[in-house]
Amino acid sequence: MFKTAFKLPLRLFGIPLYLDISFLFVFPLMVWMSASQFAYAARLGFLAEPLSGGMSLLLGLVTAVGLFACVVLHELGHSLAARRYGVEVRRITLWFLGGVAEFREMPKQRGAEAVVAIAGPIVSFVLAAAFFGLALLLGSAWPVPRLVCGFLATINFMLAVFNLIPAMPMDGGRILRSLLALWTTQVRATAIAAGVAKVIALGMVAYGLGMISFAGGDLRVGLGVGPGNLWFIPLALFVYVSATREANYARVADALDGLRVRDLMTPDVHAVPAHLPVGALAQYVGFHKHGGFPVVDTAGQLVGSVSLDRLQTSDPRLLVGQIMTPNAAAISIAPDATAIDAAMQMSAQPDTAGRLVVTTPAGQLLGILTHADLARALHLRSIGMPVPTRAPEVAAPSAQHPLQPQPVTVVRAPQSFHPWSFPATDPAGFRTAPQRPIRTVPWYAGQ
Ligand SMILES: [Zn+2]
Repeated sequence: MFKTAFKLPLRLFGIPLYLDISFLFVFPLMVWMSASQFAYAARLGFLAEPLSGGMSLLLGLVTAVGLFACVVLHELGHSLAARRYGVEVRRITLWFLGGVAEFREMPKQRGAEAVVAIAGPIVSFVLAAAFFGLALLLGSAWPVPRLVCGFLATINFMLAVFNLIPAMPMDGGRILRSLLALWTTQVRATAIAAGVAKVIALGMVAYGLGMISFAGGDLRVGLGVGPGNLWFIPLALFVYVSATREANYARVADALDGLRVRDLMTPDVHAVPAHLPVGALAQYVGFHKHGGFPVVDTAGQLVGSVSLDRLQTSDPRLLVGQIMTPNAAAISIAPDATAIDAAMQMSAQPDTAGRLVVTTPAGQLLGILTHADLARALHLRSIGMPVPTRAPEVAAPSAQHPLQPQPVTVVRAPQSFHPWSFPATDPAGFRTAPQRPIRTVPWYAGQ
């Protein structure tokens, strides 16, 4: 989810901790806001004497660090609860809207999501109570630490209450979805919870722009009636987009339920050997509609992929192995993986370009699964047609059609721009000639 996050040299219960780059922008802001709150509190008489600028900045720093440590503990609450249901926790990331715990999947047990969701706010409530108790214990003898504890108690309390707003993917929304799923289907429960979240997101935008006010306990709506808070705008956007995504995911997951990669894959893979010259491959690409090819080594094992774009911009005398992207792990999937996992992998890994190579654990090619295969299965199911499934033993290594390495002929630059002429039959054994001749590409001429 976070492409700009970097890993901290710290693990909590084995869970890696990440900092998103957006956190680095919001952290100084939090320090400054806390510092000005302390200076304000000192002026109001909460402290015997006013705070110096440096001192309030130091207190701001301590509070901001404490706040984000509390956010991590909140996420740890979710993570440890999820682990009890056997869910793998990938990582915890801090970003400008707080913290996110990423799970491999949501727990499937009835009501489990509600338990996992409530665990975070419970941790925050406990922290609020602990800091409140500590503030009482410190008493008037330690006015400055007491003030810091008081701040952290208030912030944790607000964090817990705020997260219980029933707007998915916030904790309250997840609790709502999980409870709804106790008496209806997961898809319907998600659709209802996502609808509620979208309405709340629109409310957040209105509040953020100062169009809603709760001042004095009565609700007023209109232009400029409220104080406004621009921080609500990105939060509302996040809620709206995430809720939409959750609803779509639930629909797709329901439609693909029970299907595995081996059921939907095409067993015929057009792989390219790594030792094939780029120029030789370029002569054959017109025979296929593929945007790229999986690359195999001499043992037939998947080692990476090569895209047409890469092919166009590379020297034809190089070997495919020299220009390929070594992304075998990112673009391969096991035949027994679920179709939902495949859809997730395609959306999470832009490298795949909507195509996954189905391989044995040893890396031997079994078939290819594309976006179109998933779309076809979704379509069949949506019109009530059964999707044929394949027994595991049928998903055995298929005959491949690797292109044979060819000597490279370096073509001289043509005087005028002629269409490239193709042989009438594909030497690699493919049947159809291209509909339109492909024009010569500049890099291929004049070397
Ligand atoms: Zn939470």
